[in-house]
Amino acid sequence: EQEQGPKPIRRLEESLINRIAAGEIIHRPASALKELIENCLDAGSTSIRITVKDGGMKLLQIQDNGCGIRKTDLPILAERFTTSKLSTFDDLSRIQTYGFRGEALASMSHVAHLSVITKTKSEPVAWKASYIDGVLVDPRTRQSSEPRACAGNDGTTITIEDLFYNTPTRLQAFRNISEEYSRILDVITKYAIHNPKVSFSCKKATSSSPDIATPGSMSVQQAIRLLYGHSLATQLIETNISSDKPENPDNEDSNDDEAMDVDLPSSTNWSAELHFSNANYQAKKTTFLLFINHRLVESSRMKRSFEAVYHGVLPKGAFPFVYLSLDIDPRCVDVNVHPTKREVHFLKEEEITERISDITQQKLALQGQSRTFEYQT
Ligand code: ADP
Ligand code: MG
Repeated sequence: EQEQGPKPIRRLEESLINRIAAGEIIHRPASALKELIENCLDAGSTSIRITVKDGGMKLLQIQDNGCGIRKTDLPILAERFTTSKLSTFDDLSRIQTYGFRGEALASMSHVAHLSVITKTKSEPVAWKASYIDGVLVDPRTRQSSEPRACAGNDGTTITIEDLFYNTPTRLQAFRNISEEYSRILDVITKYAIHNPKVSFSCKKATSSSPDIATPGSMSVQQAIRLLYGHSLATQLIETNISSDKPENPDNEDSNDDEAMDVDLPSSTNWSAELHFSNANYQAKKTTFLLFINHRLVESSRMKRSFEAVYHGVLPKGAFPFVYLSLDIDPRCVDVNVHPTKREVHFLKEEEITERISDITQQKLALQGQSRTFEYQT
């Protein structure tokens, strides 16, 4: 008869720890791609070219023209918690880069085959390195190996192959490759709108023409037009709001005073750029692009507050488009909430949300009035 007492506690194997952690960061091809795009932007790239096979499950390749990676850093590139972006805890409160955890490439090497070709301006040649489970390997023999010299342009090309090859349950969950591809296009579209001075392209490996191609010399408004279409672009209202210079909507609206009364301490300085659809635009679901300090994040609170504003403006079953880029004093934002960094917490969230949705409401009402006015004359 077996004893029912407690079982002994054991230390998990390092490789198991890493694979479990990787599964938290890399949910699907689109989440890998988000990390890779952020790395390209952190590297100062102005051109980002993406190639996809089988919805990113077979291959995800991303080529940039950024600063490149030093050859001497390649041996630890895919180790967990290796980063060029953070060195002290205090740095977190003024972080300007997307990355800081040094986990993305490591995670990819634990759930896929990762290879890198990179060249810095000062190197005469490019270097190619492949990784499995955090360490440099020869892709053919799987034995440990050194980076190899090869031809290449300045910048970095990262290739992820056979995503989730070693986690069969997760692999099975990804049957619908066209669904994965549309999620990939969605991530690229959002970053392309927020970074209209960076040229993005994305194509399937089997196709010669790209599904997304931006010139890298646009305004946010032009990028929205290019990527979401002309009919939305003609129905957009643009406005800027900030904590210190409250915007005064140029008509006497009963909500004015309320909106102006919100009293923010000078320590929570923020500013917002908004592009939102007017009452003539009616989509089947809400498109909400939220960037907080340039991070693509989710906030159900903000989404709900916009939906409440539009509830009174749009007919039933019709939904808006909202792009909101919110810049907040980095000391007031906690970016280290979740390994995927898909959520951030910030001070005065409620007041800021309320202020932004109030002004959106006023602008929509104003537009409604001027429309009626046009009809009357
Ligand atoms: P993090 O971005 O949090 O630092 P990552 O695992 O995403 O962690 O990347 C590790 C490091 O690899 C980065 O800090 C950076 O130095 C380097 N790196 C990754 N991708 C690129 C790239 N596209 N261009 C230049 N350097 C890169
Ligand atoms: Mg990163």
